[in-house]
Amino acid sequence: MYLLENNVDQSKVLRTTTPNESVLNVTKSYLPNKKKYQAYIDRIFDSHSLTNRGPLSQELEQRLAEYLGVKHLLLVSNGTMALHVAYRLLGLRGEVITSPFSFAATSSSLVWEKLKPIYTDICSKSFNLNPRNIVSSITERTSAIVPVHVFGNACAVDDISQIAKEHGLKVIYDAAHAFNVRGPSKSLFEYGDISTLSLHATKMFHTVEGGALVFNDADLYEQAKALINFGIDSTGTIAPLGINAKMSEFHAAMGLCVLDDIDIITEQRKKLVTQYRINFGGRLQLQLRNSDFTDNYAYLPVVFPNVVIRQAVELALGAESINPRRYFSPSLNEVYAPYQSMPNSQSLSERVLCLPLYPGLSKRDVLRVTNIIHRTLDRF
Ligand SMILES: *Cc1c(COP(=O)(O)O)cnc(C)c1O
Repeated sequence: MYLLENNVDQSKVLRTTTPNESVLNVTKSYLPNKKKYQAYIDRIFDSHSLTNRGPLSQELEQRLAEYLGVKHLLLVSNGTMALHVAYRLLGLRGEVITSPFSFAATSSSLVWEKLKPIYTDICSKSFNLNPRNIVSSITERTSAIVPVHVFGNACAVDDISQIAKEHGLKVIYDAAHAFNVRGPSKSLFEYGDISTLSLHATKMFHTVEGGALVFNDADLYEQAKALINFGIDSTGTIAPLGINAKMSEFHAAMGLCVLDDIDIITEQRKKLVTQYRINFGGRLQLQLRNSDFTDNYAYLPVVFPNVVIRQAVELALGAESINPRRYFSPSLNEVYAPYQSMPNSQSLSERVLCLPLYPGLSKRDVLRVTNIIHRTLDRF
């Protein structure tokens, strides 16, 4: 729309692209105060530093590390690239055990890196990998485990650490959903060798496009800094392996603005999730949260008793311009390993819907959604 603005009648563009007020999508990207963003853009124009780990990226890295309570955090261009970089840094090969219940990027990144995703089934209550299933999937070709803290629900991290230690495996957590989830003594991001984050516009904290890696090991962090800059380190030495995965200053500027508001964003999400739970009154299955870790209220998945009811609910909501999303469907084994069957993940994928949840949604909106769901359930 912006590219076309010289050729197109702007009023028409606006009329056709401004969403109807009553449309409720699963999410709505958070936008901070425009003047504040403008002030950062002015700084970029003054400094003429547009990218290459400029002052704003470094400021965002520092502020994020401090906010999240982690030591080594590196910003990258997106969450998928964070996964690619993590696999390369840790030298993965052969088979990697991962969750079938995730966004495509968790597995597509493995396949792109010529690694073989080995799925093990999830727990149908937590939606996360079941540690017992992980153990039975380990072979002599296994090099790592890539669990997902799905919808921000912390995995069984202590069990996974134990398994990894016993079998000499690396652990990379796809923590794309787990922004600011904390355990009793530390950030969830400090478990495993590396945690990767997505800072995409649809995530609760975002930089439009963006991602991050969190390391426990300082050396790995230094290597990663060079790896994402074509393999060129601070002395100018070029390593044989490198890629361009840098974040630009314009993206970092958005992150700095959104980070100022993150506590308000979280608080609003919490209120809405609480409202949903009250309105449902225990009538629907919700995700069983790992109570050792905090909730970040990033998503609101609900599980229906069967496919027919899920379809009916989707239809009823759609008729009122309410657009939940089937996160995640299909179960990834159906795409990347069709010979494998994952009953829990496949069953969940057929029955789950993520409902609208974002700052700016009102309690009345939540009531609208839950009333339609109740009315639909009454028919069965
Ligand atoms: C969003 C997401 C990604 C990919 O992140 P991008 O920043 O969009 O590349 C990876 N894994 C999961 C689980 C995600 O939800």
